[in-house]
Amino acid sequence: MSARYLLPCQCGHRTEVRPDQAGLEVTCACGAVLRVPTMRGLNSLERVADASVTAARPRAWGPGHAMAFVGAIIVAVGIGWGLLNSKAAGVAEQASIETDRAAHRADIEAASPAQLWIEWSRMPRSLEQIPVGDDQMSQREQFELVRDAQVLAIENQAWVGFGAAALGGIVCLIGIVLSLQRRPAAR
Ligand SMILES: [Zn+2]
Repeated sequence: MSARYLLPCQCGHRTEVRPDQAGLEVTCACGAVLRVPTMRGLNSLERVADASVTAARPRAWGPGHAMAFVGAIIVAVGIGWGLLNSKAAGVAEQASIETDRAAHRADIEAASPAQLWIEWSRMPRSLEQIPVGDDQMSQREQFELVRDAQVLAIENQAWVGFGAAALGGIVCLIGIVLSLQRRPAAR
């Protein structure tokens, strides 16, 4: 941490200069070009108070850091939510497959030989199109539609999570860039 000095201008403003700027020119806020004195001259200038240096330290936690922090939290929560829901969707999908199998097995076990024959004769058609006007079928179809919609909703939640994570990542990156840009100014 190098010392900084206050170089006064005729306008009354004082520009902060560093020892490595000795002998160079700096532009005051008013636009006037000021020559920075050499090291000996610098020592006669007022130094930037240590208090203001420490006061500048909390400023290091600027909006960039806040953005990076919030963005990182969004990423973590988003990925968590996405993974949780994609896992839940997988479980629900697996459960629905097993329910279908069990229902199918139960149907076959409950069906009379005549019903089985009718179902069997329908099979090639029912793969392409579920027969219309069959109450039992349409009821199950409704149940399956609702269940598929539920699985889809869980999947959507997963994508909401991943989408939020992506946005959080962008926010985090912008925050990191902003905080990196701030750092040299703060020192
Ligand atoms: Zn000035």
